[in-house]
Amino acid sequence: MTFLNYIRDLPRLNLTIAPLSPCPAQFSELQFGKQIRKSKVEMKYRMCTRCFMDINGPDITFDSSGVCNHCREFDEVTSKRWFPNAEDQTKLEALVARIKKEGYGKAYDCILGLSGGLDSSYLALVMKDHGLRPLVVHVDAGWNSEFAVRNIEAVVEHCDFELHTILIDWEEVKDLQLAYLKAGVANQDVVQDHAFFAALYHFAVKNDVRYVIGGGNVPTECIFPASWHHAAMDAINLKAIHRKYGVKPLKNFPLITFFEYYFYYPFIKKMTTVRPLNLMPYSKEIALKRLTGIGFVPYERKHGESRFTKFFQNYYLPKKFNMDKRKPHLSSMIVTGIITREEALEALQAPLYDEAELKEDKEYIAGKLGVTVAELEGYIEAPPRHYSEFANWDGRYRLLKAMQLIANRLTGKSANVYS
Ligand SMILES: [Zn+2]
Repeated sequence: MTFLNYIRDLPRLNLTIAPLSPCPAQFSELQFGKQIRKSKVEMKYRMCTRCFMDINGPDITFDSSGVCNHCREFDEVTSKRWFPNAEDQTKLEALVARIKKEGYGKAYDCILGLSGGLDSSYLALVMKDHGLRPLVVHVDAGWNSEFAVRNIEAVVEHCDFELHTILIDWEEVKDLQLAYLKAGVANQDVVQDHAFFAALYHFAVKNDVRYVIGGGNVPTECIFPASWHHAAMDAINLKAIHRKYGVKPLKNFPLITFFEYYFYYPFIKKMTTVRPLNLMPYSKEIALKRLTGIGFVPYERKHGESRFTKFFQNYYLPKKFNMDKRKPHLSSMIVTGIITREEALEALQAPLYDEAELKEDKEYIAGKLGVTVAELEGYIEAPPRHYSEFANWDGRYRLLKAMQLIANRLTGKSANVYS
């Protein structure tokens, strides 16, 4: 591979190796502040006529019929890399053959991070069906719900896979989690997500595995406004927040650098993330139908496998940032035809939290973090802050994009539409 091709192909990474982490939001802190003021005072409320995305962030626009840019992006870009029909089976079979060929003679042919949630659990079954030999890893950052543990056991036993559990140093997770709460930034799941992917990638390299099986999928995740969250893989931002508010040194917490993430793993180690769920019919119903047959306990809410994520998505984000993650989730299901807008509207009417459950979760989370419920509430009540108030990787990312643009010009290839 020439240097030019190497740089030109970089944007592919945003899709292949950053499944849960949107690219850095391309707007400034000033714009963010303006946006909050506008959304509170000046801007007229507006919702897409097709999905549920509304004016809550700088990255939404509407066409003359009131359809938002997220819907248009699905039609023009995302739908073209989604193959949910039975006739597309050949793509899945080709992928399986490629993974098997790569793993020939090795102990494992790919790696699967098993959280105990629906997507990764269903993926494990799919891999078993196709005779793949995954290195199955569970990264335990201390927030597993009791259902997660039971579900992991049920899946591993059914598939007869050997499970490797990577335990993240709880004292460091706790210190980081508190630092994030004190920082008051939107993405409080960075701690868990960074630990998960860093540990998974490091473990893959250690075991000579190239293919990472990702649970990311179009039907439930294709719509997500990039401005809502900063990338979980930005270790510069994570360390800056920890420097400001953490009290314990990070000695064992798995970190992944910008260089490792964008260069070392994909180009030197040739690691790539693939998403088989986009090559088959997939929905929550399809997954549940099979999983309940093996003793899987369904969660009431998406990402209910982590008690912190449940609290973060259903209480912290809506209360502090007015962001309801059910909207992009349901919008994804609308544009992919999994549910109708009416059905989604009904789902959106349900309360975000049951009062008694919220009280219990607040007590659990505060207790586990070693603070009082009042202190936890205090962090949530404090003014919201933008990640760019702390050092971050945006400068490096922009440089990478500039290099990519030059490479595109020199090679005569157009810029990657996904970047
Ligand atoms: Zn829309």
